[in-house]
Amino acid sequence: MKTWKKRTKAVHAGIRRSQYGEVSEAIYLTQGFVYDSAEAAEARFIETGQDEFIYARYGNPTVAMFEDRIAAMEGAEDGFATASGMAAVNGALMAMLRAGDHAVSARALFGSCLYILEEVLTRFGVEVTFVDGTDLAAWAAAIRPDTKAVFFESVSNPTLEVIDIRSVAQLAHDVGATVIVDNVFATPVFSDAIVQGADVVVYSATKHIDGQGRALGGVILGTRDFIRGTVEPFMKHTGGSMSPFTAWMMLKGLETIELRVRAQAATAQMLADELQSDGKLAQVIYPGHVTHPQYDLAMAQMGAGGTVLSIDAGSQVAAFKLLNALEIITISNNLGDAKSIATHPATTTHQRLPDATKAHLGITPGLVRLSVGLEDPDDLLADLRGALADL
Ligand SMILES: *Cc1c(COP(=O)(O)O)cnc(C)c1O
Repeated sequence: MKTWKKRTKAVHAGIRRSQYGEVSEAIYLTQGFVYDSAEAAEARFIETGQDEFIYARYGNPTVAMFEDRIAAMEGAEDGFATASGMAAVNGALMAMLRAGDHAVSARALFGSCLYILEEVLTRFGVEVTFVDGTDLAAWAAAIRPDTKAVFFESVSNPTLEVIDIRSVAQLAHDVGATVIVDNVFATPVFSDAIVQGADVVVYSATKHIDGQGRALGGVILGTRDFIRGTVEPFMKHTGGSMSPFTAWMMLKGLETIELRVRAQAATAQMLADELQSDGKLAQVIYPGHVTHPQYDLAMAQMGAGGTVLSIDAGSQVAAFKLLNALEIITISNNLGDAKSIATHPATTTHQRLPDATKAHLGITPGLVRLSVGLEDPDDLLADLRGALADL
């Protein structure tokens, strides 16, 4: 399996077949497992083997299949599946940090990630320094000899700044800090984060991994030592585990993720190119467009611009008019879905931020985040052009 390409792993890695030899992965909807004897139960609690299970909060065969498949795709030794992306972010950080520790984080974060770093960790005595993630000098200045963890979104939400995994990891590793990357926007398809220096990769499986807007989920990926020694004890006792039914959906999502994400990214690229050359918008932000400040880095790090672009309609009034005029693209706040989705971050996902922070992060009143789906690209372009014509 080690020599398989990502697309083959996405279909076959991690499979555990029962005595019936089923083709499609079985859903083991069970919270617990029966032991042959009292002695066997005792032995399993002392040491749980690879294909032995105790309780679904600790692990389950369907969940293990998902963990092994996504870990194989990412090139990680192991993974722990979680109830949501936020359970993964929280679990990765809370499992390894303790009072008195220092962490450095990029400032441009998904609202709930910011809440964990700014409100939760600090409440438990962890000191967090925030930096502009694209500024390597700022990372170098903030990382100290006692820094334990470094956290960032490899592509930030919703302004799509690309952070240099290799360079930040080098700075972090010089002081022995663990690099935790929230890799949602890069997707497992375009990610090579572990090779580039990430120690821990976190995904919200709710996004591209499911890809069809059905369920919440997440995963923490890293070394076997970190996952089984640090993450699992924290997760299994605090309750943020993934359900077997969700794991089955995510396994099925992974089977098609390569085809879906590559098609979505190709459409996003076309839309960004066309909207940019139409010249009607104040700004088109897409890491795959040459005008993006980190275009070269995006190409080197991911080889593509991803499935999301952000456009600036100029004002909140114009942004709302644009959103309300769209006929195919729906107004919602998920991303990575088969359905194209438009979001106004300033009044929804990032509403909580003070105006000064929004301005600092580039979350302008006119900004609209577009998650590109699987519809016909020409229909999506026509939908956007039609809505923009009315502005
Ligand atoms: C959506 C998202 C999360 C949270 O994932 P949930 O599955 O909604 O809990 C975390 N980070 C990023 C970058 C996201 O886009």
